[in-house]
Amino acid sequence: MNKIKVKKRRVKSAITKSGLPNADYVLNPYVGCQHGCIYCYADFMKRFTGHNGEDWGSFVDIKVNAPETITAKSVKKDSLILIGSVTDAYQAIEAKYKITRKCLERLLEFQPKLEILTKSPLILRDLDLLKKFENLRVGMSVGILDEKLAKQLEPQAPPPQKRLEALKILYQQGIKTYLFISPIFPEITDFKQLVKLVKNDVDQVLFENLNIRANNRKRIFEFLKRNKPELANLYEKIKKDGSYWNDLERKIAKYCRKNKIGYKIYFRHKTI
Ligand code: SF4
Repeated sequence: MNKIKVKKRRVKSAITKSGLPNADYVLNPYVGCQHGCIYCYADFMKRFTGHNGEDWGSFVDIKVNAPETITAKSVKKDSLILIGSVTDAYQAIEAKYKITRKCLERLLEFQPKLEILTKSPLILRDLDLLKKFENLRVGMSVGILDEKLAKQLEPQAPPPQKRLEALKILYQQGIKTYLFISPIFPEITDFKQLVKLVKNDVDQVLFENLNIRANNRKRIFEFLKRNKPELANLYEKIKKDGSYWNDLERKIAKYCRKNKIGYKIYFRHKTI
């Protein structure tokens, strides 16, 4: 594992209002994410947290008092809280500090609508707590199965196969699960293969397209140059013209309906 800079910080509230369409509130037990995915959109957080100039993936701030800020007042009835919108709550450092686990222990008292999105089998450590929530689902993100490519895209994240195995265990243990196929890399992500692999282990499959932005553009095109140079022109085209995503959306919908898989497509950023 790469060496990361670790700091402790105190926060006013662990639960904050969400700007996402699929969650009312978010809970991020850490600032930064040691998985260091090259396509990550969350690195805008650097500007707001005193990490300007540092590489995403090279630092983690631990919100040491996050659990104690969770009170009856901060958990709104019938609102959905998403854990892990700009960090992975089960990145490796969680094994030592257990901030996510302590947050779950506090949340249990209030039984909110809860969703956890992760790339890490470390979530299995908390199965005892997860089983006690009345309204919870867990999503596992996998965009690419090829281990060699995944290692370049998500350098510190657990291998895709391990994530799928964890998803299966969660499902077998009675937890509601979904596979989050995200981000979809055009002509690299094999969505049919992923769906086939998980169709008996999830309640739903969610799809999100790759979003090439100013902050990740250079890293994505360098990745293509190293591994799939023949796709660079196509990616440039896709950035300006959303028709690729419209076609893919239709193919995904047709495939999922044919195979009777519950699905949801989040293709929000079709052009730049
Ligand atoms: S796991 Fe999520 S938050 Fe962490 S670096 Fe990857 S995309 Fe970003």
